[in-house]
Order: sequence, then structure tokens, then C-alpha cells
Amino acid sequence: MRILLIGPPGAGKGTQAVRLAAHLSIQHVSSGDLFREHIDRGTELGQIADTHLRAGLLVPDEVTIAVIEERLARPDTEHGFLLDGFPRNLAQAEALDDILARAESRLDAVLDLKIPEAQVVGRIAGRRLCRRDRGHIFHVDYGPPEVAGTCDVCGGELYQRDDDREATVRRRLEVYHGETAPVVDHFKAQGLVTTLSAVGEVQEVLDRVLAAIGHGQVDASGAGKQ
Ligand code: AMP
Repeated sequence: MRILLIGPPGAGKGTQAVRLAAHLSIQHVSSGDLFREHIDRGTELGQIADTHLRAGLLVPDEVTIAVIEERLARPDTEHGFLLDGFPRNLAQAEALDDILARAESRLDAVLDLKIPEAQVVGRIAGRRLCRRDRGHIFHVDYGPPEVAGTCDVCGGELYQRDDDREATVRRRLEVYHGETAPVVDHFKAQGLVTTLSAVGEVQEVLDRVLAAIGHGQVDASGAGKQ
């Protein structure tokens, strides 16, 4: 399957994307993670991305589209992918249409996660990521690790993203409303969008997402339930 996950910062896209991709055995492609990898490696692209991430602004389209196009050309996405964080504006949505058309491929679903604005800042401010694997995501209140500051999965150190601080989150929300929300309408016109509430426990939201794409529920470990 080829799926897009769209939603404002704090909707839990990353958390859901990791679980959903594992359940469907498809590749999770996160534009934010691709940029953070470049930043960690100190590449030229990482330097461009870094200033934009810190400011809560979008990385220029030219750079972003090239990164995603290269990523989707790798063989591990041949049998499907879950795109998380891309496209984030109309130009990127149109670029994705072109990339898929050239590959004679198409999207199966666009999942639009909704969350009341009042919950966003609290959700993001408490988010902690593992330094060893960004897919290991915790929350100080809603999903705390057993030992504060340490990843339950691999023992890595937990940290807060620089752009998860309040002022930057507010900027990211403005960008979302101004630039990303119209992407939903673009895909609505293609009949691909399902809108879902992202409120509730991780598992509850995941069950909702799976039902929306016609898949059975999974238990908390991520194993399939018949
Ligand atoms: P995320 O991890 O999806 O929350 O993205 C973190 C940051 O990476 C965003 O605030 C942007 O600065 C940048 N970013 C991620 N995806 C995109 C994209 N599709 N276009 C432009 N910038 C992006």
C-alpha cells in the first residue's frame, strides 16, 4: 500500500506511522527524519535544513522534493510506503503526483489526522525521542518510559527536539494551517482522503487508522489479531 499521513504537529503522526508501517510491512518515509539524519551527518543539505527546522519553517521545496524523490526511488519502497510529513504544501503535492505518475504508481489512501489545537502544545512539549532510534517515541505524561530519560526499547538516552519548544511549535502550527491544510483538499479532489480523530490513546488511534484502510485491529505489541 502507498499511504500518506497528514496532520498538524502534535497529532501523533510519527508515533502512528511507525506502528502502521510495521503492521503493513511497508517502508516508513519521514521527511523530518531524513532531514534530521542529514543534520546529524553534517551534510551540506543538513546545514540548509537545520536553519529551517530550528525556525519551525518549511525547508525549500527544491531540496525537499529532491530528498523524497531519491528516497522513493530506493527498492525498499517498491512494495509500498507510508509517507509522513510530505507533502506539506501544494507544490510538493503536485510534485508527488508527478513522481508517482512517472513510476506508474498511485496512492491508495490519504489519512488526515485531526486534533484540537488546545492539545497540541502539551502533546509536543512532553515528547521525548530516543537518540539511538527516532522511532522510539515517549511522552512524559501520556507514554512515559519506565526509567525517566531512558528508552524502554533499547536503553538509549531520551531527548527533546529543539523545534518542540513552545514558540517554535506555534510557528509550525501557523505553517500547517497556511500551507499544509490545502494539501488535504488537493487529495480530496482525488477521492483519497479519510479524516480521523487523533484524540485518545495511541492504540485507540491506531485501531481507527487501521479500520479506515480496511485492516483488522492490532494488539499493543503490534502483532496482528484475527
Ligand atoms: P516533522 O518531523 O515532520 O515534524 O518535521 C520537522 C521539520 O522538518 C519541519 O518543521 C520542517 O522544518 C522540516 N520538514 C519536514 N518535512 C518537510 C516538508 N515536506 N517540507 C518542508 N520542510 C519539511
